[in-house]
Amino acid sequence: MRFGFDIDDTLINLREHAFHIYNKKLNQNISLEIFNELKTVEIHEAFSLTSEQGGQMWNSLLEEIYFTNCPAFEGAIEFINELQKEGHEIFYITSRPKNYCPRTRQWVVEQGFPVVDANFYCGMQDDEKIHIIKELKLDYYFDDKPAVLNTLTDIPTKIYVKDQSYNQHVNIPRVKSWVDFKLQ
Ligand SMILES: [Mg+2]
Repeated sequence: MRFGFDIDDTLINLREHAFHIYNKKLNQNISLEIFNELKTVEIHEAFSLTSEQGGQMWNSLLEEIYFTNCPAFEGAIEFINELQKEGHEIFYITSRPKNYCPRTRQWVVEQGFPVVDANFYCGMQDDEKIHIIKELKLDYYFDDKPAVLNTLTDIPTKIYVKDQSYNQHVNIPRVKSWVDFKLQ
């Protein structure tokens, strides 16, 4: 079967990684408890930044956020390697900016995710993911972001949401943890 995955905050814990970097850069010590309560994909509210300041901060730290030691969610690498071993096809679909795509693919490989170059899709807008998912005729697709998931109704692909504080209102099957996740 054909499995598609978003990367950031679906397979890797990017927001939390960025949260630690923000704390360091801003000389703050905001607790993870506050992070875990955030109802937005963006994290600037935890630091009392405006969305403009938050956007600037995020963009200025993008290299560091993307290419340092952001951890994968526990079990994610193993889950995907297991799928590959079973003979399934793995696709990655990430809306990271185009200029970061080659390094992102390399970084994902280095973390231990199985990557077939031709199956690595990067640099689209969030709302363009649906076209790729349709064209690829994916059997399963996993993402965390409500703005993406909301475009994916009415397609035959089975969609799962990776559980996050900002997507609790999304009413589709949920991946709470990759460690004990089973396909329905
Ligand atoms: Mg994501």
